[in-house]
Amino acid sequence: MKKMRVAVFGASGRMGQEIAHLVSESSTMVPALGISKDGKAPHFLKAGKKLDAKDFKEIDVLIDFSSAEIFQSAVAFAIENKIPLISGTTGISEKDFKVLKKAQESIPVLWAPNMSLGVATLVKALEALTAISNYDFQIEETHHRHKKDKPSGTALLLQQKLESVVGRKLPDPLALRGGGVFGVHQVQIMGESETLTFEHRALNRRLFAEGALIAAQWLVKQKKGLYTLQDVLKG
Ligand code: NAD
Repeated sequence: MKKMRVAVFGASGRMGQEIAHLVSESSTMVPALGISKDGKAPHFLKAGKKLDAKDFKEIDVLIDFSSAEIFQSAVAFAIENKIPLISGTTGISEKDFKVLKKAQESIPVLWAPNMSLGVATLVKALEALTAISNYDFQIEETHHRHKKDKPSGTALLLQQKLESVVGRKLPDPLALRGGGVFGVHQVQIMGESETLTFEHRALNRRLFAEGALIAAQWLVKQKKGLYTLQDVLKG
């Protein structure tokens, strides 16, 4: 069986290296191409900062965990070379989202601010809250001190879903930064006589890399379009 050749934007970063480890250990994937700011990408067969379109010829999927700064160029590369794109980059702008939506006209695209299947399940679970939509709600998140965007993309995703479920605007998510925390998200639900908390804890960064690779293996079999992790869960 032909191995899936993986290119990564942000290959030298925390997430890029997790992806590289998993792909290297896998018997079905190859870490073919790594793109990073300084052109270095440990574990990848080929590395660079400004790779040529021809370098992408044999690539089956492009995975982006880089920065909002180069997000649009990752999308442009994927479209130009007709490669399915998975992006987990957060902190992207409205303009970036428009570019992402446009990309679905030519390639399969999946963007998720949190690649864990647990968070995808939590998003789905929020639908049950219609029954107590009159309660008070507050989303809280905690991440390591290096995280640039605040609140996290995941908190914004949960907020958007929760507001659509309860049908009103809710207080903005609260965000804490410190230490090496991989990511904690809580949905606090507060009634007059009871409280309920939904909590997701990422125990390591590998979790997100595993989710991205599960999504990648699914995405390469899809037609052009814009997908979410919810679609991957449906199978
Ligand atoms: P990092 O700072 O460790 O790595 C960033 C990588 O992107 C580096 O390889 C860097 O060289 C590259 N990069 C940045 N700007 C670049 C540019 N202008 N040109 C070329 N390369 C550039 O960051 P990280 O912790 O790996 O996170 C990367 C992104 O993924 C962030 O947006 C983060 O919030 C997001 N993230 C998402 C998830 C998820 O599940 N969706 C999980 C963790 C992190």
